[in-house]
Amino acid sequence: MTEENKTEEVKPGEAKATDVKSVDSFDSLGLAAPLLQAIAETGYTKPTPVQAEAIPLILTRQDLMAGAQTGTGKTAAFTLPILQLLLPFASTSTSPAKHPVRALILAPTRELAIQVEENIKVYAKKTNLRSLVVFGGVDIRKQTPHLKTGIEIVVATPGRLLDHVEQKTIQLNQVKFLVLDEADRMLDMGFMPDLKRILALLPKNRQTLMFSATFSKEIKKLSDEFMVKPALIEVARSNATNENVTQKVFSVEQSDKQALLTQLLKKEAKDQVIVFTKTKITANRLSRALEREGIAADAIHGDKTQKERIAALDAFKADTVKVLVATDVAARGLDISDLPMVINYEIPSAPEDYVHRIGRTGRAGASGVAISLVSSDEEKYFVEIEKLIKKTIPRETMAISRRGRPNTSSSSPRPQSSTSHTNSAKRPQRAPAKSKDPWFDKPYEPSKPSGSTTNNVKRMPVRNNKVPVAALLGGLIKK
Ligand code: AMP
Repeated sequence: MTEENKTEEVKPGEAKATDVKSVDSFDSLGLAAPLLQAIAETGYTKPTPVQAEAIPLILTRQDLMAGAQTGTGKTAAFTLPILQLLLPFASTSTSPAKHPVRALILAPTRELAIQVEENIKVYAKKTNLRSLVVFGGVDIRKQTPHLKTGIEIVVATPGRLLDHVEQKTIQLNQVKFLVLDEADRMLDMGFMPDLKRILALLPKNRQTLMFSATFSKEIKKLSDEFMVKPALIEVARSNATNENVTQKVFSVEQSDKQALLTQLLKKEAKDQVIVFTKTKITANRLSRALEREGIAADAIHGDKTQKERIAALDAFKADTVKVLVATDVAARGLDISDLPMVINYEIPSAPEDYVHRIGRTGRAGASGVAISLVSSDEEKYFVEIEKLIKKTIPRETMAISRRGRPNTSSSSPRPQSSTSHTNSAKRPQRAPAKSKDPWFDKPYEPSKPSGSTTNNVKRMPVRNNKVPVAALLGGLIKK
């Protein structure tokens, strides 16, 4: 089948420059006046490549698979044509029956869902089309009255949408547009069964749009099953091959990573940085350790409450937090523009995650730096990443000085000898470094609300007066 072959052709990093259409203005895309006015008010002067490609295609009512990640302007790329196609149904009536759900946008995370819906509100502000975001982790009863008023465009995380379906607080039988945003991440997060249930509830006669940063076999299967001859575009060339992003790799032993990171943050990073870890525990510990080094940091991951995650993101956007330590899942969909640097503190075992991570920088033509701290145990993961991005990145070493003292053991470049590899392979992966703060090596204790007097919350003595107690307890850092 030809579509199948085409699907396989689209791989991250393989799009050619000629794939990218250059369109100088939104006017030429065939959008209606209320949408053009809203766009003009946002200050966007011309469509991004994914918008230039996707908008005309979607307007022809085709299914679409787009290789595009957050930061490329993909939200407007699907929202504007959907709004345009829904304009004939816009109604000023107060009757809920006049506002059935006509477009459903599924997103993997609450953060992404919120951001997408915020954007929709901006683009739809000159129309009478209504939108709402529904996501888990909050009281479902608060969402229901809004749904009952009638909403044309629902942005949802899959689990919560199914909760509403079960409670019969949402009807999906009039959905004409389905968007799977960050589809690859939804599958990574195990949403396939939920997606299949949702897809079974939707009318067959609909337009399906899928946006994904990477195309895996599972994505292809999903598209084969639920899309009709999708058009394929890959305008958002993977940032892994984006010339704007300088990729660097430092070979460093696990036990030296924290010191090297601190040094990089203090000396190299002029602006804000997202630091990626594999686990929530490391994210928490690392952000606390950075705070102790005097670096304003916070962690964002799935164990944080919705409120905490939003507060951390807001603090980062407001620049009161310099370093956001994030897990892959939590970082997805974060709309942070102009991020000059990302650091991979731990290397992801899924190479696609690397593409997602470094896609946080070097957006919209800006230059960015992606630094990876690779321990000998992680070399194998990085080799897989290099295969995916079809690029070999030279390993560098950096002399590490701790708290102003040169560290003789690391001050000379670490040889990449087979001996050092073998030695480190024998060591437990997270061998504690003697010079590190013992607090850092304590087992993770989940955050407790400040003021909690629970006996089993053991507090380490505050050794450094400058350390905010809230940070030690895992609370939010108030600057
Ligand atoms: P997205 O990939 O949809 O998350 O968009 C990333 C960022 O690009 C958002 O902050 C949008 O507001 C912004 N954006 C979207 N379209 C344009 C455009 N045509 N020109 C400039 N910025 C844009």
